Amino acid sequence: MARLDALEPMFRAKFLSAQFFILLAGSALSAADAETLDDFRAAAEKANAVLTIPDWEQTPEAIDASMKAAIARANQALDKIGSQDSGSLTFKSTVVALDDLTYQAGLVANRITLIKEASPDAAMRAAAEKAIKAFEDWAVSIDYREDVYKAVKAFADRHPRLEGEDEKLLKETLRDYRRAGLSLPVDKRKEVEQLRKELSRLGTDFDTNIANTQVPVVFTKADLDGLPESFLSAPGVKTGEDSYTVMANITWQYNTVQENAKKEATRKKLYLARKTLAKDANVPVLNQMLSLRNKIALRLGYKSWDDYQTEVKMAGTGARAQKYINDLIAGIDPKFQSELAELQKLKAADTNDPHARIMAWDWRYYSNQRDKQKYAVDKEALRVYFPFQNVLQGMFNIYQRIFDLKFEKLDAPYKWTNDLQLYVVTDSSSGEPLGMFYLDMFPREGKFNHFAQFEIIGGKLLPDGKYQRPTVALLCNFPPPTADKPSLLSHQEVETLFHEFGHALHSIVTRARYGRFAGTHVPGDFVEAPSQMLQNWVWDKKVLDTFAADYRDPSKKIPAEIIKRMKDAKLASAGVLYRRQFAFASLDLALHDEHPENAPYDCVAISNPILEKVFLPIDPGTTFVSYFGHLNGYDAGYYGYAWADAIAADLATVFENARDGYLDKQAGMKLRREIYQPGDSRDINVSIEKFLGRPQSIQPFLKKIGVTQQTKKDAPGRG
Ligand SMILES: [Zn+2]
Repeated sequence: MARLDALEPMFRAKFLSAQFFILLAGSALSAADAETLDDFRAAAEKANAVLTIPDWEQTPEAIDASMKAAIARANQALDKIGSQDSGSLTFKSTVVALDDLTYQAGLVANRITLIKEASPDAAMRAAAEKAIKAFEDWAVSIDYREDVYKAVKAFADRHPRLEGEDEKLLKETLRDYRRAGLSLPVDKRKEVEQLRKELSRLGTDFDTNIANTQVPVVFTKADLDGLPESFLSAPGVKTGEDSYTVMANITWQYNTVQENAKKEATRKKLYLARKTLAKDANVPVLNQMLSLRNKIALRLGYKSWDDYQTEVKMAGTGARAQKYINDLIAGIDPKFQSELAELQKLKAADTNDPHARIMAWDWRYYSNQRDKQKYAVDKEALRVYFPFQNVLQGMFNIYQRIFDLKFEKLDAPYKWTNDLQLYVVTDSSSGEPLGMFYLDMFPREGKFNHFAQFEIIGGKLLPDGKYQRPTVALLCNFPPPTADKPSLLSHQEVETLFHEFGHALHSIVTRARYGRFAGTHVPGDFVEAPSQMLQNWVWDKKVLDTFAADYRDPSKKIPAEIIKRMKDAKLASAGVLYRRQFAFASLDLALHDEHPENAPYDCVAISNPILEKVFLPIDPGTTFVSYFGHLNGYDAGYYGYAWADAIAADLATVFENARDGYLDKQAGMKLRREIYQPGDSRDINVSIEKFLGRPQSIQPFLKKIGVTQQTKKDAPGRG
């Protein structure tokens, strides 16, 4: 029930868009059109729809008051559902009323979440954070409103004849209650509630222990042979005459040393420090968390936490997720082994030991050596082809064309930052306004520091019969322009823009009737797939040539040779990188697999052998899981990255086989119609197969990651 809509995008962003930022500035696109908001609103009215600019709170007091009012209104609506006499219960007065009230409360939470992430005013951000915590607590409590549950249950017990989206809404509402323990006898339900609270406290401890762990490792200059001068002179690294302090917990420092340190002893020393971070604090905490999750799953009638978590995803069961990952591990093995053999040769030559093995502390170093020797791509030099304005306009042109949309700039009535931009999206053919998006693209102090799409107003059919069109925001941190250069993006940042804007389109063009199904509210192991697919666009010469050009001389396009080398380099490490991902997915599923209720857990004994078997030899004293933050939040869900990747590759084939490739309008319209518009209002498998025009296949993914020798018999399927 408690859809924590407002929190989802951030939560995702925490893990999915790990990128960095540089500092502050602004930019502006030329105003494209003279149409005003009123014109668009009038056009929306004609389509029986509503277009809304959020009513932004502008003081901390207003934030506090809005949240209190939203919760009070929602509680009244809950009371109303719960106090009906059983004779008057209808679909509308129970299940739909619940969707209405969670949607309305979510609007306020979404808006305040954006203030928390984007307001330039620290007092506003603090007030927003406080309000969001209050919302979270309240949202959990909705699950346990027994009066509301009884009303919904009494309605369901009449076995009403419902169809399609309505039927799905009732089914999933009941499922949420069952997952919260509401269908259990009171004493057992209380126990589940208690276990959930305990689990949530331990989860906070787990995260805090990770955040608070700091482990310095001191080296001499000789130890750090191979490291670039820029690293040795970085602030905080040189800490004495011949002493250099590397923080094992700072990822970029760890990676730089692992990629460049010539001495194996150095790499291993830092690896040991890194892979034992939070060991003493978190190993016992994780063991308790696993035990609580297992108890909750068993109380609720599941065989395992894997089954509990995957029930609401595409995978459906833990066994299917596990089989899927195991098949991929096997499928990619030849590619993995051949990459490993190449790295082994480099190490053998380097150490004069023909039997040298690639260990967990070696792969980054030898991969880096190979890339330098074979592929020499200067990533920084590519930025000249990607001035921000041209990339943005180029992406707009492509998406407008393939999805038959029109983006028009408006003057935002309220701006939290001067360089904020607001656009209206209309259907190009009918002129129907579909929604709006804000762009807040450059870093500033206190702002959310990754790249993500945030839903502010989701799509929904309102009780008065009008359709509320969505408003969303993209918060990004692209390098700002300087005195002598425009903002120049890296190729990876261009890829991120295409990805994040895909989420915005998914939100905006929705036609789902209920808030819980609209836009990106789709299963967690699917939501990234369409956007991951759109990343392909920026690896295509034909697409790149529509906008990428040297800003100093726009007649210069990116040479085909460079694009090819970039692709080759990416493919050359796919086996190693994916096997590492599969090892994480596999150990996560193993930790949450079936387990006797009273048997104690040993998370290290479960996970270490998997790391070794699926990835590379490790040191037995290490405890990777004690510092693996995904185990709180993506628990029994890490497999979803690979799952969505495979769907993305499958979806991409529709464009790849179309006449205009990634610029094909028919394929684009099909995506809009079959994937974006329905959202979760129908089974996502149906949507995928309608878009593909055939059953799903894992083959395009295997091909993409360089597995070509696959015979049909051995091919991993979706089980
Ligand atoms: Zn994403």
